[in-house]
Amino acid sequence: MDLHEFQAKGLLRNYGVPVPDGGVASTASDALRVAKELRGDAWVIKAQVHAGGRGKAGGVKVVNSFSDVYDVASHMLGMKIVTKQTGPEGKIVRRTLIEKATDIKQEIYLSFLVDRDSEQHMIIASAEGGMDIEEVAEKNPNAIVTERINPVTGMGLFLGRKIAKKIGLESSLLNKFADVANKIYNVFADFDGMMLEINPLVVTGDGDIVCLDAKMNVDENALYRHPKIEEMKDYGELEPQEVRASIFDLSYVSMDGNIGCMVNGAGLAMATMDIIKSFGGDPANFLDVGGGADVNKVREAFKIILTDPKVKVIFVNIFGGIVRCDLIAEGVLKGSDEVPSDRSIVVRLDGTNVEEGRRILEEGAAKTGLNIVTADTMADAAQKAVELAAGEDYNPEKKKTAAKAKE
Ligand code: ADP
Ligand code: MG
Repeated sequence: MDLHEFQAKGLLRNYGVPVPDGGVASTASDALRVAKELRGDAWVIKAQVHAGGRGKAGGVKVVNSFSDVYDVASHMLGMKIVTKQTGPEGKIVRRTLIEKATDIKQEIYLSFLVDRDSEQHMIIASAEGGMDIEEVAEKNPNAIVTERINPVTGMGLFLGRKIAKKIGLESSLLNKFADVANKIYNVFADFDGMMLEINPLVVTGDGDIVCLDAKMNVDENALYRHPKIEEMKDYGELEPQEVRASIFDLSYVSMDGNIGCMVNGAGLAMATMDIIKSFGGDPANFLDVGGGADVNKVREAFKIILTDPKVKVIFVNIFGGIVRCDLIAEGVLKGSDEVPSDRSIVVRLDGTNVEEGRRILEEGAAKTGLNIVTADTMADAAQKAVELAAGEDYNPEKKKTAAKAKE
């Protein structure tokens, strides 16, 4: 789950990490009020969206008067921000963070990640802060320093000083950096972070170290032990399909392709996506309806796929074990009843009550006019789905060659 900059900075502040004074505003007059409360003569107005690279896209502006605070905030609120991380559809700015402007002497990059290979945490730092770390990695990989952190023992001041030296900080800053880096690490570790990126961490004109940006992602599966973090979830940042899925407790991840997948079991869901790819298609989503799905859950899952405008074909791949095939078939028909669709559905059912499930689907298709294509094997179904999504007519000859090629 992604946090907003202001939310992550709130956590950091509670752990004693220096962050600029600031407040959140969702209207221009709110922004003005925050700036007046902060006092001073320069402020930064920052769009609060779940994406980095806002500076380059007009989402971070330094202003020097109250009238500019008002004007820039009213322009920024409601605007669509498009960065590398938002994709071409962009994100609407619903909130801004108003902060006191910081006098920047040096910008540093600092982040913490989970390193699955070593099963440890990882710290990444660079003196080349403020820009894309991917760009630094490409042009000047030597400027990036990484170290592993054992999550059981934690980071420690020694490692902080070591990193500070490696990135070439002045000796007067070594202890300060080590202290701040450790506090940031503690936020990352205590809240089950997947990533916490501070870019930039700055050295101010007064020689202080301050956190100017914060991008944090926490492990969804650990939210049960962080109810305060769960409350921070911003449904406005999710796709509508993802919001619906979270209401009905479905594992759903939206993707870029045009074949909607409805599958039970995470393993089968993965395999379904793989087989679609191997036939040259692209899945529109990962969706696991789970083992204990009832008719309502299946109906909702199907509706979620139907309301995704990217989807051209729906691939239902269910192995009926705990969830019976007839129940799945009923759910599919109920879901498509509410959202009329001209899309084709490729169904591969196997397992408990498979005959009954097929019969329900076929009868339902005749009644509703749904175009339901049934398939016996996963490969057969995947190929049919890929062909239909590609807009070609089903061609049995082609199927044979593809199936042979697969063997
Ligand atoms: P993003 O990474 O999304 O572009 P940042 O928060 O990193 O957004 O802001 C971009 C740049 O704006 C920073 O690298 C920094 O130079 C400047 N900036 C951000 N916050 C402040 C601040 N409080 N005071 C002064 N400059 C700031
Ligand atoms: Mg940044």
